[in-house]
Amino acid sequence: MAVRASVEYFSDAKKLDQYAKNKIGNFNNVSKNFDSNEQEVYVIIIGESTARGHLGIYDYYRNTTPLLESINDELLVYNNVISPDTYTIATLTKAFTLGNYENTQAKFEGSIIQLLNQAKFKTYWVSNQNPIGVNDSHVTKIGLGSDKSYFLNIKRAQEKTIFDEVLVKKLDEILKEEGHKKVIFLHSLGTHFNYKYRYPESFNFFNNDIPKSNFKKQVVYDEINAYDNAVRYTDFFINEVIETTRKRNVKSFVLYFSDHGEEVYENSEFYGHFRDENLTKNLYEIPMVLWCSEKYKISKKIFPKLNSKYMIDDLFHSIADLVDVKADEVDSTRSIFSEYFKERNRIVRDSIDYDVYFE
Ligand SMILES: [Zn+2]
Repeated sequence: MAVRASVEYFSDAKKLDQYAKNKIGNFNNVSKNFDSNEQEVYVIIIGESTARGHLGIYDYYRNTTPLLESINDELLVYNNVISPDTYTIATLTKAFTLGNYENTQAKFEGSIIQLLNQAKFKTYWVSNQNPIGVNDSHVTKIGLGSDKSYFLNIKRAQEKTIFDEVLVKKLDEILKEEGHKKVIFLHSLGTHFNYKYRYPESFNFFNNDIPKSNFKKQVVYDEINAYDNAVRYTDFFINEVIETTRKRNVKSFVLYFSDHGEEVYENSEFYGHFRDENLTKNLYEIPMVLWCSEKYKISKKIFPKLNSKYMIDDLFHSIADLVDVKADEVDSTRSIFSEYFKERNRIVRDSIDYDVYFE
């Protein structure tokens, strides 16, 4: 099994190399309503290992998202979004390409970054994740299709690393650069283990409290507290990205989602996300939040289907819809922001019907 998986890993890696070489892809009939005088700035935050159930804006019992709550009336908060798998490569190679569970091999047939490039956006990939780690390199290969890519962190996620706010500083620089049409992807470390390394001391908010858990042990309390502190720092980070984008006062949105969830001793005596058995909802349930500027709202109508069932293997189509790019390959029935959106079965791990499994 390990041999087969590693052969597949390397052959996939080779096929994904094309994304850095062919920057515009092979899409047909690409079109975008293009007013070259209008500035458009779109930011996509890729979260990491953040379980929806731990966010205050999703009714977690702890106040882990005070800043997002303070602008809640400006946010579209999606309540029923899941990831197609429980590790970074498996979910993001689907989210950012034409690949989905119906056609997994389509992950080699076109990426959202290629589509944006062809539609004449300037694209940026800014990452706080190690670009050469086994866990991330397939994602890096897609990111390298951007016009510009920056890797700000060369350490492994388990180690002490620079905090995600480093991405905000880079974003601010990019927004001040020349250019009228930009899409910036920010690949954060989010709440990836080791949780206590994901936030500065000033965010050590839940420290001596005993959190709710069925597993009454100090080590459990410590991990849950550290995880919730990391969520609280993520709240700060997302809010900083929104405020930095808002300052430009142009047509813009900020889309945030997590690549998959995390189990932290709630439904199982376990923390992390790599798991082949005893699957829990926390591994799949993810936050997804959209902020739009006033200028964006004037020119583009979003159909808020906040409670619709959605899985992010279709994010390619949803992002294309948000930036108003059309192509033969873009399917509006797969965009949760579209009036034509249709719910479909959600098959995780290419084999398990999520809504039946967790009924
Ligand atoms: Zn991940």
